[in-house]
Amino acid sequence: MRYVDYIGNLTRLAVEIVNGDEPSELRRAMFDQHRIAEPEPEQLGAFVALLTDAVRAASHGGPLGPVNALLEQYPPLIRVDDHDGEGAPHLHFAPNGEDPVSWLGRSCAAALAHVTCGDPAVTIGRCHAADCERLYVDDSRNRTRRFCSNACASRTTVAAHRARRRAAN
Ligand SMILES: [Zn+2]
Ligand SMILES: [Zn+2]
Repeated sequence: MRYVDYIGNLTRLAVEIVNGDEPSELRRAMFDQHRIAEPEPEQLGAFVALLTDAVRAASHGGPLGPVNALLEQYPPLIRVDDHDGEGAPHLHFAPNGEDPVSWLGRSCAAALAHVTCGDPAVTIGRCHAADCERLYVDDSRNRTRRFCSNACASRTTVAAHRARRRAAN
């Protein structure tokens, strides 16, 4: 797996938790592969606050404090793993089978450290649609993404079209 995709997936996990989304296919697959249980909502409380600060800071390229606070509380433990020969060797930032909040903390802290430093090229943006506060991960080649979802993109296109029509009348 390309490193940018790996960091992108871990960053998507972080952003999904901060957005308060239902568990995605990606999250289920990553938890499954690494034998991580889905955390109970009450386990996530304090962690989500810390993670939200770190994700917001990473989306602006700083300040560095919130990402370092997450790293301090959940220090990454780097290993290489090929899932018993079934996959390509890749980095892990937390042990398989760990308590879900620790696994998420270490993995997201490592990913957000990369995002903050700008390499590999993964960025976190805030949706440009009116009345949408959601964050998204952009690992597209030219980093041209502007919306959290297709729904927000088309809603914005329709609104702009209507505004142009009104202006023309
Ligand atoms: Zn793995
Ligand atoms: Zn949106």
